[in-house]
Amino acid sequence: MSHDLPERPGTQPRPPGHFAFCPTCGSPNQMQERDGRNRPVCTACGHITFLDPKLAVAALIVRDGQILLGKRGPGTRSPGKWSFPAGFVERGEQVEAATAREVLEETGLEIEPGRLFGLFSEMDETVVLAVYEATIRNPGAAPVAADDLVDLDWFPLDGLPELAFDRDYRIIERLLAARQ
Ligand SMILES: [Zn+2]
Repeated sequence: MSHDLPERPGTQPRPPGHFAFCPTCGSPNQMQERDGRNRPVCTACGHITFLDPKLAVAALIVRDGQILLGKRGPGTRSPGKWSFPAGFVERGEQVEAATAREVLEETGLEIEPGRLFGLFSEMDETVVLAVYEATIRNPGAAPVAADDLVDLDWFPLDGLPELAFDRDYRIIERLLAARQ
């Protein structure tokens, strides 16, 4: 049986990757405008796929006026640039626990997640970033880069390397403002 469908006016090409097929019936999706946005819509059953944001967490670890940053490895977004220890929250995972897990995976350090410093989102960006202040449980431990990171170092807030994302600069600006 053919799944070819006639082109309808106003329809868009197939959405990419795992949005290409309907999660309900498995038929091909097409990008069509629904509720004011282009969304993957099933060509067979009409199911609309509403795309959720992805929640990521980052840890602000500041000690003696210096912040712990990691250099991002090959295969990551913005390789070679520096950012906070960070990663994605898994479904069903408690968010502060995800922060501690990601820091442990990327730095080998056990941390205590503290205050929610801020929630950072922007137009057309899939990732929403929850930034937590964090303290190291064992201050004598030396961080060891792993996972997505190839290096770790402490930087003075007025002497930072090139940061990986625009929002990293906004986070640093807010951190500096909060310390004044
Ligand atoms: Zn369907």
